Amino acid sequence: MTGHQQTGAALHERAASLDAADEIAFTRERFVPAGSGSTAVQAYLDGNSLGRPLKATQRRINELIEGAWGTRLIRSWDEAWMELPLTLGDRIGEVVLGAAPGQTFVGDSTTVILYKLIRAAVAADPGRTRIVIDTENFPTDRYVAEGIATETGAELVWIEPEPSEGVTAEQVASVVDERTALVVVSHVAYKSAWIADLAEITRVSHDAGALVLSDTCHSGGVVREDVDELGIDLAVGCSYKFLNGGPGAPAYGYVADRHQDRLRQPIQGWMGHAEPFRMGPGYRPSPGMRHFISGTPPVLGMVGIADTVDLIEEAGLDRIRAKAVALTRFVIDAVDGELAQLGVEVASPREDDRRGAHVTITHPRSRELCAELWSRDVIPDFREPDGIRLGLAPLSTSFAEVATALDVIAGLLRD
Ligand SMILES: *Cc1c(COP(=O)(O)O)cnc(C)c1O
Repeated sequence: MTGHQQTGAALHERAASLDAADEIAFTRERFVPAGSGSTAVQAYLDGNSLGRPLKATQRRINELIEGAWGTRLIRSWDEAWMELPLTLGDRIGEVVLGAAPGQTFVGDSTTVILYKLIRAAVAADPGRTRIVIDTENFPTDRYVAEGIATETGAELVWIEPEPSEGVTAEQVASVVDERTALVVVSHVAYKSAWIADLAEITRVSHDAGALVLSDTCHSGGVVREDVDELGIDLAVGCSYKFLNGGPGAPAYGYVADRHQDRLRQPIQGWMGHAEPFRMGPGYRPSPGMRHFISGTPPVLGMVGIADTVDLIEEAGLDRIRAKAVALTRFVIDAVDGELAQLGVEVASPREDDRRGAHVTITHPRSRELCAELWSRDVIPDFREPDGIRLGLAPLSTSFAEVATALDVIAGLLRD
């Protein structure tokens, strides 16, 4: 055996024992297989970008087509669909966000919900005209904030975090004051996987009288959110990542009870009206959470989300989180072992409790490496300029898959 084969074998052996000890291994069987034979995916490390479908969702979509849509037809709006944005919202609130009922809705893309909530927060207090956001936040969050600044005259205050880390409470504390309307922060940073200290960030923001919006796209379903307990004001999150809702599945938005009748979202459509079917003149917002809805709920995109929420509840967020730590730790140990000698570096937090469920590694040849990996059915994400993001969805990812990916990466770099 060559040295490389030996380390490869050791990696697979370690993966096998971790898989054998995995308390939530049963969840992997619940997913639709990712191909078979020569079409089989060898390692899917992008569940944080597009989660895999559950078998239950496959059934549920068929049932929808034959039943609620195909047979009940328009009666289904009354029978189920009108309430779905709020009933599904409550389930996400309960299991994913740590939110009591009546504070979460589903509908629109993350981008649009960000617009609605940031815009509402900026309009809430004319004396507060600043939005705090960081340069490492996801592009859409930054662009939406920029657009709102142009539209309203609000001023953006940029925090510049370490790219391999993320926003700290100290950085937030140093910029918030009586002019700050809102602090926008990602709970888990989309590139580095940094877990922001939301408790402390919320505390320092509230001390200055500012609201906090937590973007949970990369934390929802893998890191405990506790929005109610932490007193977070607003939150958004994506349902096609760790919630496996399917491509373009609608996002969720959270507005704490205490703000619902004070904040007005800007896209005032008929579905948020107090009496949508009176179709009367003039917009009158529904009380409570409903007025954050704008138009007809995207039912087709919503059906799959509930299955993963159920599975998260069954597996338990603590066990999911423990597996995420173990999977990401497995990657970091492998980089520190063989891959570091091949020029690979870790661009994610090394401290387990500061790291979400992905690891970004860097190498000067990452772009071509990623293309080569995809052609071998090993699927991570390329991230400019030289990052490979390994997303490790605990419900669907095995340690064996991760070992395969790392082994193929090492092999390609040795060539
Ligand atoms: C994935 C992601 C989005 C996606 O927004 P869409 O409107 O669904 O395209 C937004 N923000 C963050 C932080 C994300 O990770």
